[in-house]
Amino acid sequence: MSAAGEWRRRIPGVDELLRRPALAPLWAELGPARARAVIQQVLAALRAAPAEDGLAQLDAALHAAARPRLAPSQRPVINATGVILHTNLGRAPLAPAAVARLAEVAANYTNLEFDLATGRRARRDRHLDGLLAELTGAEAGLVVNNNAAAVMLALNTLARDLAGEILISRGELVEIGESFRIADIVARGGARLVEVGATNRTRLDDYAHAITPHTRVILRVHRSNFVQRGYVGQPPLAELAKLARARRLPLVADLGSGCLAPLPGLPQEPGVRASLEAGADLVTYSGDKLLGGPQAGLISGRAALIARLRANPMFRALRLDKLRLAALEATLALHARQAWEALPVTAMARGEGLEARTRALAARLPPSLGAEIQPAASLLGGGSAPDAALPGVVIALPSALAPRLSRQTPAVVARLEDGRCLLDLRTVLPAQEDSLLQAVASAARDWKAVK
Ligand SMILES: *Cc1c(COP(=O)(O)O)cnc(C)c1O
Repeated sequence: MSAAGEWRRRIPGVDELLRRPALAPLWAELGPARARAVIQQVLAALRAAPAEDGLAQLDAALHAAARPRLAPSQRPVINATGVILHTNLGRAPLAPAAVARLAEVAANYTNLEFDLATGRRARRDRHLDGLLAELTGAEAGLVVNNNAAAVMLALNTLARDLAGEILISRGELVEIGESFRIADIVARGGARLVEVGATNRTRLDDYAHAITPHTRVILRVHRSNFVQRGYVGQPPLAELAKLARARRLPLVADLGSGCLAPLPGLPQEPGVRASLEAGADLVTYSGDKLLGGPQAGLISGRAALIARLRANPMFRALRLDKLRLAALEATLALHARQAWEALPVTAMARGEGLEARTRALAARLPPSLGAEIQPAASLLGGGSAPDAALPGVVIALPSALAPRLSRQTPAVVARLEDGRCLLDLRTVLPAQEDSLLQAVASAARDWKAVK
């Protein structure tokens, strides 16, 4: 037998490795299916590139292959980008009160769809009825999976019938994220989009002239992630509402982030209450943008329209589970009490004490990093107030740290700008500051090691 053949015969089999006592704790942590996958992966690599010390290092190779499987795939990161509603980082961190409610409801049965007074079945979203009505002034409300679903449900319900038409300004055909264009949502909702006006200007008359017997909805979409400047214009929502009422058409306003109350000192997004008062029949907005709650789509407006949306079979497929309903209820309760500091998103947006926190943390960094404090702007993000920068300060570090920071545990996501790695503490929760310091120190050691 050749030397290579002889060598191959000494490679242990899968079952032998599964029985190896030294590896038992590792296999117990992984479970049998994943243990087999790890072994097969490592043995295949060994057979493909036979090496004498490969056999000696087999246990170490198995541990290394198992490691990525032992950590959860989704895990907490420290957001040092200064973008508060960072969609790729999960948008709004929940308030501690919402987290507590979520945990309580998760571990128990609840009165989700059960009326304790009558013993009868009841709607699950009734838990938000009172809070939403009092916060927004709306007759009724409904919650679904996210705002995209809210828009889809509203348009599908109101304009689904054959050749139903939806009027929208050419200046509002927004793309929200990679795969969400308003035009596509309308098409999927089963209706036909009728574009009115020009990209930069749309007049009330443009809407009026486009109304036909097939028109079902006038749609207003907030330009959440871009701004138009120069020769631009659109009728105020109240004017559009007057036209809609005169022609007996529902006016649906997709507010994007939406905002329950104007927050002092912050860029203003279209308010839910103000839009309803201006005459919108339905408004849709996100749960995890400025509201600071879990992912959800909220719809507020006329009771008769909300009842039609609720009766749409699609609603069943888009509804929320008990966990998010609980987190949303707790979040709305904080809004009702105007407890802005208890809501991470609004506390971050206000950024009280940001400069003092930044200076204190910078003073604790390894001096060899040459950290500098410089003025910089944070962003609301998540398609809110796109041109409104929140003035603040950041810590500037060598850019080589950035990729090393994102490999720490917990990972730190920093901002890269002008060849510097910027840490914006506005989006770092105060409880994460020690972890951030450790991550920077460890990333600095990694960097020094290769320098
Ligand atoms: C963000 C946004 C959406 C989508 O909201 P999701 O909750 O992410 O589904 C829809 N419309 C507008 C105007 C938005 O800004």
